[in-house]
Formats: sequence, structure tokens, C-alpha cells
Amino acid sequence: MEKEFEDIKKEVLNCQRCNLCKERVKNGFYPVIGEGNHQAQIMFIGEAPGLNEAKTGRPFCGAAGKILDELLESAGIKREDVYITNILKDRPPENRNPQKEEILACTSYLDRQIAAVKPKIICTLGNFSTAYIMEKYGLKEKIEGISKIHGKIFESKSLFETVKIVPLYHPAVATYNVNMKETLKKDLKVLK
Ligand code: URA
Repeated sequence: MEKEFEDIKKEVLNCQRCNLCKERVKNGFYPVIGEGNHQAQIMFIGEAPGLNEAKTGRPFCGAAGKILDELLESAGIKREDVYITNILKDRPPENRNPQKEEILACTSYLDRQIAAVKPKIICTLGNFSTAYIMEKYGLKEKIEGISKIHGKIFESKSLFETVKIVPLYHPAVATYNVNMKETLKKDLKVLK
């Protein structure tokens, strides 16, 4: 399986599937592939790299990352024990929302990362990640806005595996609304 992580890395570093690669090259940015335990039980999936992430190639290393670290600590989870990645691997200009065609172009990398890690629990951070993962796992009719379904546990059962999906608010919301941090901490308790 380590070969698969290496293959994904090589492919993402050279990816030209959508226009975001032009922004990456123009600005001297890195794609953010993902990091953490390759056999993690829990996988966190965010939206897309922000400026700090694109400058370093590491997911959640800026303001939203500080919040995520705090949330993980409050839930008694070590960051190095989980796997963290995003829907998009390249930063959208000005942190705008991911576009449909970008999600379509990029998510085969995410699908391969999920298949390689085989997490038992997937925590989706924000609306884009939640919608993509719930649809992927056959839960399309249960998709609602994150304010309605945050902190709930959805189960996807197949012949070979059961995956629990936990939609969460994106940690960035807590950077401008402190009450949200408490909501996020409460939601993360379901992982204990
Ligand atoms: N926001 C995200 O969705 N992902 C990151 O890696 C950083 C900020």
C-alpha cells in the first residue's frame, strides 16, 4: 500500500487536470496531498488548501489548523494517529469555493487515499466534503446543510466494510465565531 501513497503523491505533484495547477505554478505553491497515519482509523477531510497550506504543502497548518489541533486534543486524539486531507489538493484563488469540475477532476485522488487508508470513521469538515462523501457512500438522500447534520453519525454498510461518517462544521468557522468551537468540541465527543 505504501506504493499507492507514493504513486498518488507523484501524480498530484504533476497534476494538470484542472486550472488550479496554473495558480499553483504561477505562485510557487505546493499541492497539499495529505498527511498522517496511513492505517488511521479516523480520516478527516477538509475542503481545499488555504494560503499557509499551499505555501508549505501541509494540510490544516494555518488558523483553521490551529482550531483542528485544539479540537483533536479536546477529544483525546493525537494528530499523528489520524489521516488528514482535502477534497481539492490545490488552493482555489482567494480561497473561493471549489467548483464542480474541480471536484470532479480531483476526487479520484481522494477516493484512492480512502481506499488505501481504509478508515472506519470519516469526519467531513464543512458542506463540500460532507456532500461528496455522503454521496460516495450511498447516503445522498440524507444530505442536508451542515447546520442540520453536524455531529450526527451516518453508517454506510457494504458486504466488506462498515464506514461511519461524521459531518462536522469546518474548523474555519470557529476562527470568526467562538461559540462554534464549543459546538465542534461537543460534536467531536462522538469519536470517543
Ligand atoms: N481549510 C481546509 O479545508 N483545508 C486545509 O487544509 C486548510 C484549511
